[in-house]
Amino acid sequence: MKICIVGTGYVGLVAGTCLADLGHFITCIDNNAEKIDGLTAGKVPIYEPGLEHLIVRNVREKRLHFTTDAIPAIQQSVVAYIAVGTPSGADGSADLSGVFAVAKTIGEAMNGPLTVVIKSTVPVGTADKVRAIIAEATEHEFDVVSNPEFLKEGAAIDDFMKPDRIVVGCSKPETQEMMNRIYAPLMRTSKPILFMDNRSAELSKYAANAFLATRISFINEIAKLCESVGADVEHVRRGAGSDSRIGLRFFFPGIGYGGSCFPKDVKALMTTAEQAGSPMQILDAVESVNANQKKLFIEKIETRFGSDLSGLCFAVWGLSFKPQTDDMREAPSVVLINGLLERGATVKAYDPEAMEEARHHLQDRVQYAASKMDAVSNVDALVLVTEWHEFRNPDWPGVLSAMKTKVLFDGRNLYDPDRLRAMGVEYHGVGRP
Ligand code: NAD
Repeated sequence: MKICIVGTGYVGLVAGTCLADLGHFITCIDNNAEKIDGLTAGKVPIYEPGLEHLIVRNVREKRLHFTTDAIPAIQQSVVAYIAVGTPSGADGSADLSGVFAVAKTIGEAMNGPLTVVIKSTVPVGTADKVRAIIAEATEHEFDVVSNPEFLKEGAAIDDFMKPDRIVVGCSKPETQEMMNRIYAPLMRTSKPILFMDNRSAELSKYAANAFLATRISFINEIAKLCESVGADVEHVRRGAGSDSRIGLRFFFPGIGYGGSCFPKDVKALMTTAEQAGSPMQILDAVESVNANQKKLFIEKIETRFGSDLSGLCFAVWGLSFKPQTDDMREAPSVVLINGLLERGATVKAYDPEAMEEARHHLQDRVQYAASKMDAVSNVDALVLVTEWHEFRNPDWPGVLSAMKTKVLFDGRNLYDPDRLRAMGVEYHGVGRP
C-alpha cells in the first residue's frame, strides 16, 4: 500500500520505517529540510535502538523515501498519516496548529479518495475538526481515522512491531477494512485491533498516559512517606506491586517523570476535562507531586551541603529523560542541573547518547565529560539521574578513588545502599532510610 507520513520525528520516523518493513511503500515528509537532507544522506536524526538498521534496509529496498515536498507524496498515496508534534500551548492545552496546517495541505493536495490517519496525540474532538478542514478544501472522498501511538522511546521498534493493542477510531466499515490491511501483519499474535469511535480513540491515549503518570506520582508520594516514617520504598514497592492487580512494572520511585509526552498529555487532559466541565482533580495532584519530585535532590543536596554550593563540583550521570533515548524534553536532569548552577555549583555531566541534545538545553553552562569516569574526577558528589545500562554496575573502587568526597545521590534507587556504605559511601536515595 502507498502511504505517506507527515512529520518525521520520533513517531513518524519509527512508524514509517516499521510500516515499510512490513511491505508498504512509505514516504516520510517533514518541513525540516535539514532533517530530510540528513535522512536522504543516511544520517538518522535521533538515537533509537535498532532504527538505523531498519532504515538502511528499507531505503535500499526502495520502500522508504524522505521528502520535504508534501503535495506529490500525498497525491501518490491512498493513506496519509499525520504525525507532527502537539506540544503544550501557553494555557496547557495541546497546540494543534501543526495538525491543522497538515490537514489543510492534505485537503488542498489530494486528487482522489484518501484515508487520513491521525497518529499525533490529539484531544477529543480533533478528528471532527480535521474532517472539517479537509472538507473545506476538497471535493474528493476521504475519511479521518484516530490511531494514537503508544510506543515508548528507547523501545520504539519493538513497541510498534509488537503492540499490546492498536486503537483505531473510525466509523465506516471500508475504513476499518483499510486499517485492518495496514496492521494485519502485526496482529498474528492474539493482540487486538480495538475499533471504536474517533472520540473514544482520542481519549484512550490520554487516559493511558495520565494513568501511567499517576502511578509514578503515587509511588513517589509513598517514597516521601517512607522517608518520614522510616520505611524503605524498595520493599514497599515490591510488597504492594506483587499484587497482580497492581503489578511491578512502571511502579518505580525516582526524581520525577519527564519526556515529550507525560507532562504535556497530563496538562492537555486537565484542560480538556476543565473545558468539558468535568475537571480531573487527581491530575492536579499528579502534576504538583511531579514538579516537587524534580526538585527533591536539590533539597537533599541543600540539606547536605547548605544552600550556597559555590566551590563545589557535582558529577551528573545521565541527562536524557530516560535510558535508551537521546530525548531531553522535560528531562529531570535539566531541573536538577539548573538548581545546582543557581546555587553556585559547577557541574560535570555525562550521558551515553544525549550529549549533543543536552547542549541545546544546557548550552555551555556545564562541563561535558568524555566518559562516566571523566565526570567523577575530583567531584564533591555524584548524582545518578538516568539509569542507563552503563551506570548499573560501575567499577566502584575506581569511581570512589576518583571522587574528592564519596557522596552519592541515587535518583533511581539503582544501587545497593548497604554495599556502598560498606565501601565508605555516604548514600542518599529516594524513599530509603
Ligand atoms: P517530534 O517533535 O519528534 O516530531 C515532529 C516532526 O513533525 C518534526 O520533525 C517536525 O519538523 C515535523 N513537522 C511539524 N510540522 C510540520 C508540518 N507542517 N509539515 C511537515 N512536518 C512537520 O514529535 P514526536 O515525538 O514524534 O511526536 C509526534 C506526536 O506523537 C505528538 O503528538 C506526540 O505526543 C505523539 N507521541 C509521541 C511519542 C513519543 O514517544 N515521542 C509516543 C506516542 C505519541
